[in-house]
Amino acid sequence: MNVPTDSLSDLVVERVGFGIFVLDRDMNVLMWNRFMQDHSGLSPEQMVGKSLFAHFPELPRVWLSRKIESVFQLGSFAFSSWEQRPYLFKFDHDRPITGGVDFMQQDCTFMPLMRDREVVAVCVTISDVTHVSIVQREREEAVAKLQEYADRDGLTGIANRRFFEARLRDEFTRWQRYGGEMSVLLFDLDHFKKINDQFGHGVGDTVLRVMAQRVAEVVRVQDTFGRFGGEEFALLLPCTPLEDAMRVAEKIRCTIADTPVEVQGAGVPVTASVGGAAARVGVPAYDVLINEADAALYSAKRQGRNRSVAFS
Ligand code: GH3
Ligand code: MG
Ligand code: MG
Repeated sequence: MNVPTDSLSDLVVERVGFGIFVLDRDMNVLMWNRFMQDHSGLSPEQMVGKSLFAHFPELPRVWLSRKIESVFQLGSFAFSSWEQRPYLFKFDHDRPITGGVDFMQQDCTFMPLMRDREVVAVCVTISDVTHVSIVQREREEAVAKLQEYADRDGLTGIANRRFFEARLRDEFTRWQRYGGEMSVLLFDLDHFKKINDQFGHGVGDTVLRVMAQRVAEVVRVQDTFGRFGGEEFALLLPCTPLEDAMRVAEKIRCTIADTPVEVQGAGVPVTASVGGAAARVGVPAYDVLINEADAALYSAKRQGRNRSVAFS
């Protein structure tokens, strides 16, 4: 076996699964490997001895020239990741059409080639990291979806209690610092146990879903509407004094009471009682607001249900 080592390294450079090319200080191409040829359709004969930009006018000229010049000056490696710059060369990738990824995603390395302690050229490598970027994108999408699920109530699709309380806590902290107004409403469906008993639990579930949907359509975008417990809902109204909140309470109460919920051909009449409370001097914590709204709700129940009562 007598293969000269320099021709061995030539073979490696030709066969290796990433792009390798060499530039002089004037951005002329000194070497262009097979990977670069295969993906650009341009042979070493066409590339070597010419400016890189002659065949690739769309390259980020200023950025790339500066990068190469810095390697010449400092004599140290430089990198560029697909996360900063998705690709240098507009090469097709070999993946099935995948949402969001138009061209081969690339990591680039800029390596100084030294002779007598001086940089004589810069070797650039181009790695195809399309698969990494796709996995990363999918992971980000999955995390966003999980986050979304974690904040939602499974039955009704509106905010769950955890999310509602987090929003309430934030809003209360904002109120403590900056003042202004904020109110909370608690809703509880009246005699819901009877609905379950009379029509079955499945119908009960549908009623909860329809109610939540109906109310969600009438609340303002800046308000947070959530399922607080079984048949109990809560509405956070930032920048809203109690008086205005109670008007909203009445609107929602009527939205619920005015139209029976159609389930399996039957019209199920539903009403709700509402309790409201507002932040004011002396309220030390957000859960005190909840307790006050709950006390008002209890009072609405005692007064005969299907009504709204403000905490006083
Ligand atoms: P009140 O007017 O005093 O509120 O009477 P109520 O019957 O609504 O009161 P209570 O809170 O005692 O009962 C609530 C009922 O809601 C009991 C429970 O079975 C039912 N419930 C709670 N969560 C769900 C649910 O997710 N689906 C269904 N179908 N029913 C539920
Ligand atoms: Mg209840
Ligand atoms: Mg109830």
